[in-house]
Amino acid sequence: MAPERFFLELEPPLESLRQRPHVVIVGGGFAGLAACRALAGADLRVTLIDRRNFNLFQPLLYQVSTGLISPSDVASPLRLLVGRQANLQVLLGEVDHLDVDRRRIGFEGSDFAYDHLILAAGSGSTYFGHPEWAELAPSMKTLEDAEEIRRRLLLVMEEAERTPDSERRRHLQAVVIVGGGPTGCELAGSVSDLMRHSLERDFKQLDPADTTITLVDPGDRLLRALDPQLSAAAAQALEAAGVRLLLGGRVRTIEAGRLSVTSAEGEQVLEAATICWTAGVRASPLGGELARASSCRLDRGGRVEVEPDFSIPGHPEIRVIGDLCAYAHTPDGRPLPGMAAPAVQMGAWVARDLRGRLEGWTPKPFRFFDPGSMAVLGPGRAVADLRGLTFSGPLAWLLWGLAHLAFMPDPENRLLLLLKWLWVIGTRQRSALVIGQPQAPAAVTEP
Ligand SMILES: Cc1cc2nc3c(=O)[nH]c(=O)nc-3n(C[C@H](O)[C@H](O)[C@H](O)COP(=O)(O)OP(=O)(O)OC[C@H]3O[C@@H](n4cnc5c(N)ncnc54)[C@H](O)[C@@H]3O)c2cc1C
Repeated sequence: MAPERFFLELEPPLESLRQRPHVVIVGGGFAGLAACRALAGADLRVTLIDRRNFNLFQPLLYQVSTGLISPSDVASPLRLLVGRQANLQVLLGEVDHLDVDRRRIGFEGSDFAYDHLILAAGSGSTYFGHPEWAELAPSMKTLEDAEEIRRRLLLVMEEAERTPDSERRRHLQAVVIVGGGPTGCELAGSVSDLMRHSLERDFKQLDPADTTITLVDPGDRLLRALDPQLSAAAAQALEAAGVRLLLGGRVRTIEAGRLSVTSAEGEQVLEAATICWTAGVRASPLGGELARASSCRLDRGGRVEVEPDFSIPGHPEIRVIGDLCAYAHTPDGRPLPGMAAPAVQMGAWVARDLRGRLEGWTPKPFRFFDPGSMAVLGPGRAVADLRGLTFSGPLAWLLWGLAHLAFMPDPENRLLLLLKWLWVIGTRQRSALVIGQPQAPAAVTEP
């Protein structure tokens, strides 16, 4: 590699780059990627560090878990997305240490200097103090999680196909999904379609009527972030697809093949060969590391409480964006949700603010534009709340598809997804059904 390509202090940077302020961005997800792109052409040298060499489009992970699409359809190499930006270098590795006084970050056993630091390390799953549940009930946060869920679903179906005992078959065909947010609802709808319809022709012994899918949530309705009417529409669509809803139910224990749930009716035990966990999100441990190094405050979810410009008190050179930050400078004082749209807008705004400071202008204060929320519940079924306009059914499903294609950062994957979706609509056939090797336990972030 030519010396001018080395931006971090691996080699002395080229003279023309040496004087430029050095921006280090940790995390190439929605927020970090938006920041990188908005810094293209700026008079800065930018280093993007991620522990994975790809950007993951998390909203479609449930389609990987249920064999609709392949892992590579939702993972785009970061070098492909931003590696050609002349002022930017991509580095692979996990940042694990911050020294805010010396303005240095620890990374793969060394530490490096920055002038500006943008932390966009996202969030992970939490099992609310029960990390041992991760092995028994994988979450859906990483590509490996999604592949592991797919592997487990396909393996139980294979075992059921060769099992003469009908009771055992019913156990193998039982799935419990914990968490009635968008991820849990989308997974439940897609698992139902996979186990009841898509593979009906391919498995000779499986009776779709023996499949049971139970969605457990402690709240009194699904999709609590959406309008109650849409929660009702989602519940109706899922029940029509054969998903049993267990609302007001709190998971007490999880063992292999069973979990116990307490609700107003008392305690009940659910037997299921596959259990999936979509219930808890906790910010990246890098937030805790920043709090240790700088005394900034974290909220209950481990998110860094930030100033209106996403900096932390006493450190205007450090910005925290995306799922890792609690941004409460909103009209109602409630922190912005951990979703893709806020993350992208935060990344773009922080980059613009940096450029403005450098070039002597001030951007307008950050204002989040809320494009709305949606969840898909099965083929042709979705709910959408677009700034107060609510939709359900096929129109919501079409809007959902268009919105996800628009958000997909890689044009090649956008095109491939469109083709794959059209293929699935035309044939009702899923093709990403290869059973892989077991994956490492889910990424769990406990306080
Ligand atoms: C299953 C699922 C479905 C979702 N569906 C939707 C949806 O339909 N609509 C919606 O708006 N939002 C949805 N979300 C939420 C959305 O994906 C997140 O809000 C968004 O990804 C947050 O972006 P981010 O850039 O903050 O973090 P992320 O996209 O998570 O990116 C963080 C990056 O940081 C890297 N990283 C982490 N720690 C380190 C470290 N120490 N060193 C180096 N790199 C590190 C990670 O590898 C990752 O690339 C969904 C999330 C999940 C899990």
